[in-house]
Amino acid sequence: MRSLALGLALLLIGGAVSAEQFKPAKSSAQPPAASQAAKKTATKKATTKKSAPKGPPAKMLFGVVAAPAPLKARAIGSYSKGCLAGGVSLPINGPDWQVMRLSRNRNWGTPQLLDYLERLASDAKARDGWPGLLVGDMAQPRGGPMITGHTSHQIGLDADIWLTPMPDRILTPQEREDITAVSMLKDPFAVDPAVFTTLQVKLIRRAASYPQVARIFVHPAIKKALCEQAGKNRAWLAKVRPWWGHFYHFHIRLKCPAGMEGCANQKPPSGDDGCGKELSNWYKTLQKAEIWAATQPVTPSAKPPPKKKQLTLNDLPKECTTVLNAGGGAPVIAEDGTVPAALELPESKDAGPPAPRLDAAALEALKAELSGKPKPTTASASAAASGSVPLPDRKPH
Ligand SMILES: [Zn+2]
Repeated sequence: MRSLALGLALLLIGGAVSAEQFKPAKSSAQPPAASQAAKKTATKKATTKKSAPKGPPAKMLFGVVAAPAPLKARAIGSYSKGCLAGGVSLPINGPDWQVMRLSRNRNWGTPQLLDYLERLASDAKARDGWPGLLVGDMAQPRGGPMITGHTSHQIGLDADIWLTPMPDRILTPQEREDITAVSMLKDPFAVDPAVFTTLQVKLIRRAASYPQVARIFVHPAIKKALCEQAGKNRAWLAKVRPWWGHFYHFHIRLKCPAGMEGCANQKPPSGDDGCGKELSNWYKTLQKAEIWAATQPVTPSAKPPPKKKQLTLNDLPKECTTVLNAGGGAPVIAEDGTVPAALELPESKDAGPPAPRLDAAALEALKAELSGKPKPTTASASAAASGSVPLPDRKPH
């Protein structure tokens, strides 16, 4: 619940915002200027309004709505700035999938996302020997920004799938909260061949093979392994994009379904397989990030994290206000601008382990390599990582 605390802190720093400012219909209402004093107050208020956020962060609103908007199913806006009308939920148990972290209530999506996942689960089992999908976060019932974990997943076209094979039994709800996904990495730069096998390669290739898929996100080390193991047929690799954090799950993003008005596609990835310059650039960034991470204190300092822009309802497409309010679904906003229900959300355990870190010797070797000096002979940069120091999951997707 790091982000919840952060969100609340920012909300408090940002100042109290009245419920009236949140409701678009009332936002233009001016208090009657009965006296000079009242006029002064009104002017002061109007000035303050300009810089103050317009209503609570949208994630506080969308993050607490438990049911879908009773409207025609539509993905509205873009993956990182939008919402979901008429969302449908993936059954928590299918013939070849199980939904994890049920307490999060994030197994929602467009009907097209559900169709896709059911097809992928069935094809991967029948044709690739993958025993079944463990499904991570999809979208919230009405999509929108989330209090924890993602910047995208807002319009019901994104889904996280664990790279851990499904066990051969139905997991209990408690197990679905407690089980941690298996990291595919042996160190920050390479997969562990003992866990990342041809089964995972086939699963990701299968997931990318359908025309409705826009992109798939994996950790750069996984992309590297896929590049090495793809063989001659490489077209699918163009859709598989490196991104931070995706070392125990991969992220599937569908294109906007044909004819779905108001759904904003991303520019398609270039036709290149991404195994050349793009990947080597990612590796340079990864190396720098490792060195940066090593300079960070192991225990989080009391210093507040850098301020991140919070999306408010006004930043989302207008129709998202309709989606939030449909069927009387909008949560109560307190006088001070907070959303009380957001404070009562249950905590849930991170789905995966912390990212592995280099040990001291490997770190020194890497620094030497980057500075162009000869490597120390005691260890190489690719030597075993300790894996014991947690690295924050930077830039979640
Ligand atoms: Zn994701």
